[in-house]
Amino acid sequence: MLIAFAWWTILLFQKNQDAFKAKKELMKMVMVAEGVVNSPDQFINNAAFKDLEKKYKRQEWMIFGEAIVFVISLVIGVWLINRGYNKAIHTAKQSKNFLLSITHELKSPIASILLTLETFLKRSLPQDKFEKLTSNALVETERLNKLVSDLLLASKMESSYQAQVEVFNINDLLKGIIEKIKAKNPEANISLEEKIANQEIKMDLLGVTSIAINLIENGIKYSFEKPDIQVTIDKNNEAILLDVADKGIGIKQKDKAKVFERFYRVGDEDTRKTKGTGLGLYIVKEIVKNNNGSITLVNNKPNGSVFKVVLPFDPIRIN
Ligand code: ATP
Ligand code: MG
Repeated sequence: MLIAFAWWTILLFQKNQDAFKAKKELMKMVMVAEGVVNSPDQFINNAAFKDLEKKYKRQEWMIFGEAIVFVISLVIGVWLINRGYNKAIHTAKQSKNFLLSITHELKSPIASILLTLETFLKRSLPQDKFEKLTSNALVETERLNKLVSDLLLASKMESSYQAQVEVFNINDLLKGIIEKIKAKNPEANISLEEKIANQEIKMDLLGVTSIAINLIENGIKYSFEKPDIQVTIDKNNEAILLDVADKGIGIKQKDKAKVFERFYRVGDEDTRKTKGTGLGLYIVKEIVKNNNGSITLVNNKPNGSVFKVVLPFDPIRIN
């Protein structure tokens, strides 16, 4: 289309030039015949010819201007179509990922609980086997519960999330969370560096809890055999600073912004080994946003990732 536009523009320029030349010759002949002018110099300086020349120049600029407008419209049009196309592809991919992961995440715990219950019905088991199967079923139920709460929380995030502000000790909160996660993941080493001691704050308790759990659990989930997580709590004049660093698989530059999107999981759903729905970091980002904070993701050295959360508090809100 651009070549066609260029071609039409050149053609219009030529036609305009031809028309000008013909008009000029005709005007000259008439003027000479009527004795208005006697020499080429006189003709060139004649007011009627100057007027004709001015009109010609104006038409030339008009053609040029219209060509530019067409080209700009074409470029904008192509850009808009391309953007829409990319958005549609992205949404389709997201919903495919969502369906695949949700189906898997829903089906596998249900299947496992069903199997356990059927086993209980059919035979009486020795106590130790019974306890093992029951605790497995409990873990699966917990997974289902987390999935449903995450889905509900994620849909709430868009419309009606209300931060519940409470007074609590952030050091104690983090210690409690770490203890619980350690109990579930005995292979993980999770350390807490307290740059502030016994800090009482008035903040969104459930929000802060959810942020810490999601980030620490991700650190464990996306690490090699022996996860090593470092949690750091600090503050500046305006905000609480929470860092969660791991030495795991790390996140490539191109995925850094995307991991905060709903249902986004790095890699392909079919080839991914870890369980998850891609909602955790979306929920974290939305809670942080809701509390007027910020979250950044940088590489850890020599490998792994560091999530840095800044949660502001106004002086009245901190004791
Ligand atoms: P869930 O909803 O259960 O948390 P998830 O862990 O897959 O599922 P997110 O927590 O939102 O979802 O993380 C999104 C993706 O970002 C993950 O699938 C993973 O690919 C990547 N990711 C998140 N945290 C880390 C990390 N610490 N190291 C490496 N990759 C990570
Ligand atoms: Mg997660």
